[in-house]
Amino acid sequence: MPRKDIRNKQDLAIHGAPPAFDQPLHVGRPNIFDQQAFLTHVARILDSRWLTNDGPTVQAFEHRLASYLGVKHCVAMCNGTIALEIAIRALGLTGEVIVPSWTFVATAHALHWQGITPVFADIDPATHNLDPDAVRRMLTPRTTGIIGVHLWGRAAPVDELQNISDQHGVKLMFDAAHAFGSSYKGQPVGRFGCCETFSFHATKAFNTFEGGAVATNDDKLAETMRLMRNFGFKGYDKVIHPGTNGKMIEVCAAMGLANLDHFDTVVAINKRHHNDYRDALKGIHGVNLLRFDPNENNSYHYVVIEVDRGFPVSRDDIVAALHAENILARKYFWPGCHNMQPYRALFPHAGLLLPHTQAVADRVIVLPNGNSLPEGAIDTIAAVIAQLADR
Ligand SMILES: *Cc1c(COP(=O)(O)O)cnc(C)c1O
Repeated sequence: MPRKDIRNKQDLAIHGAPPAFDQPLHVGRPNIFDQQAFLTHVARILDSRWLTNDGPTVQAFEHRLASYLGVKHCVAMCNGTIALEIAIRALGLTGEVIVPSWTFVATAHALHWQGITPVFADIDPATHNLDPDAVRRMLTPRTTGIIGVHLWGRAAPVDELQNISDQHGVKLMFDAAHAFGSSYKGQPVGRFGCCETFSFHATKAFNTFEGGAVATNDDKLAETMRLMRNFGFKGYDKVIHPGTNGKMIEVCAAMGLANLDHFDTVVAINKRHHNDYRDALKGIHGVNLLRFDPNENNSYHYVVIEVDRGFPVSRDDIVAALHAENILARKYFWPGCHNMQPYRALFPHAGLLLPHTQAVADRVIVLPNGNSLPEGAIDTIAAVIAQLADR
């Protein structure tokens, strides 16, 4: 069926003006619970005049995180990108590192920023995670590592990637920015590969305003990363390692402590929303909600739909229609890292080896979720999409 060409946003709005929501519904609107618990921590931080530099709040937060994830070490960082950069450097990765293109651009940038070539491998279109066979095809004598990404909180194929890592003597780590609270074969994400990095950015399921961490069971690696995040200082006046400033500040750790107490509630709300989205979208032909394995933990933070080619209007027109209603749906992670700069210029033909990435990038929409989603919003969002299906 030929697609209808829709240029006029007015034409798409089911209610005409005004939009269905007077306040914009953002994807990744921060989950905030107990303001008082946070403010109590902050008052204590201010009274103590210890604002940063591995203070007591950061130390308490790291201990809580390590026990929550069931790992020996959690090294808190100022954000998820620095966590990636420091982990990559502490592992000694050089040359080429295999990553998905279907991820947030920070995964690739953290390599390029350090003079390492990100080599993009294709994904399994059913899960949106790295396809182990595609990873094998991208190995070269220059490959030193693989970074798996647990996209949308669904664990990457950990065992298969570990096998490749063992067989070829390349290191394996994970970008777990989406996967706080997720599991793989029943075990919490955080323990896999050499280490796993998390992001606690405001838009993630669990946030510390900005923040991140690296989880690992490797004592030596944890020690190196602790040095690296604080300029290589080991005590006063004594610098024993190259380093940068990757420290988490006390106020961010306070937010983490306050939010961690309510993370299970976030997950429960998100999961209920996911079920509501599934029911509301069920009757709409050509729009499919990405499902997660009910036997694994996931924060259900990401509500991802895929638009079939046969749907009467394009993916971009659906997004435009939603935006006209103040529903600020996103096209994460369109158009894929390989189509962003500098990678597009460096590897202009990368897309030829990434057919599934390209196809998925053209059909994905991420919808709003989280504890601030208004009552009834899901039915309205589904109604906007259903209206387009009937055109
Ligand atoms: C958010 C994110 C990052 C970067 O984390 P920041 O805390 O924003 O620096 C890295 N990788 C993925 C997959 C992400 O979603």
